[in-house]
Amino acid sequence: MSYDDKNVFAKILRGEIPCNKVYEDDHALAFHDINPQAPVHVLVIPKGAYVSMADFTANAPEDLMVGFFRAVGLVADQLDLVEPGYRIMANHGPDSHQEVPHLHIHIFGGKRLGPMLMRNWDGGE
Ligand code: 5GP
Repeated sequence: MSYDDKNVFAKILRGEIPCNKVYEDDHALAFHDINPQAPVHVLVIPKGAYVSMADFTANAPEDLMVGFFRAVGLVADQLDLVEPGYRIMANHGPDSHQEVPHLHIHIFGGKRLGPMLMRNWDGGE
């Protein structure tokens, strides 16, 4: 899958549309999700044109990979989530329901988040 530079996170990175920023450095930008699924729901994106985790881990330079993952940890700390706990998640591709084709890690927190996936999954479709 090739990178579409018209995706909404590419526009946020270019400053073409606003975001509610919580953190930025040379490798990453973090901002509040527009439709939060938890009391704290922040997205961390790398500063580079990568569709998803598969693209990023195969093609990103190591300094960007290190900087990006370090930023995820820094953001969780900055949000005071380390002590109470938090969840990180990244969707890749259709089965995951990835909506925005620019790699992003969700950080969820601020309440007891419950089990990781739907409890009523029956092993079928
Ligand atoms: P995905 O389903 O791709 O893992 O998650 C995409 C996330 O991006 C969703 O949680 C959605 O609410 C969020 N989102 C989509 N458009 C915007 C936007 O314009 N601004 C912000 N801050 N979040 C967005």
